[in-house]
Amino acid sequence: MSDKKYLALIMVGAPGSGKGTHSADIVEKYKLAHISTGDMLRENVAAKTKFGEMANEYMQKGQLVPDDVIISMVLERLQKEDCEAGCILDGFPRTVEQATALDKALNEQGKPITSVVNLIVEREEILKRLLLRGRDDDNEETINKRLDVFHAQTSPVIEYYEKQSKVINIVAEGDADHMRGIVLSALAKNIGE
Ligand code: AMP
Repeated sequence: MSDKKYLALIMVGAPGSGKGTHSADIVEKYKLAHISTGDMLRENVAAKTKFGEMANEYMQKGQLVPDDVIISMVLERLQKEDCEAGCILDGFPRTVEQATALDKALNEQGKPITSVVNLIVEREEILKRLLLRGRDDDNEETINKRLDVFHAQTSPVIEYYEKQSKVINIVAEGDADHMRGIVLSALAKNIGE
């Protein structure tokens, strides 16, 4: 019984909730493709592509990049060979429209979303973490804006997947090392390992 189960995971959480760190752990354990829309966009910004320039205007304001462009970017990425064994989506879907488009594509391929890992962190703790991180688009104003956008647009995504009973809710207030084992074992239990 060593047949690896196909995993299509989604990592959700506010900016600074630890999505990147915990996705990296899960990727290593299950050998999944790590698809971070934030990283893909930042690569485009750094490479000064037309797409990157357009996306950066939204990113600098803490707004979401329009659904149609993000959806095509992710669906194209999912065609790559490294996604065959499974993938973890980090930072996507962030709107119900994105979730619906993703579900449609994955269901058509007979590879529906397995589970959604939802990292829950209080706003004050998030602000503290992000100001320490000091990334280019992190200042108190853009962070607050991103958190507002997150609550307004992404909470419905969690509800959308709650209806499919796919959400693993994890309070992720502790430091990354402490949370590591908790996240991995909650996922293992959810996927029936
Ligand atoms: P992140 O690193 O995931 O916090 O993403 C940084 C920025 O990239 C966000 O504030 C958005 O402007 C943009 N972005 C990343 N993922 C998405 C997405 N799924 N939909 C729309 N915009 C996104």
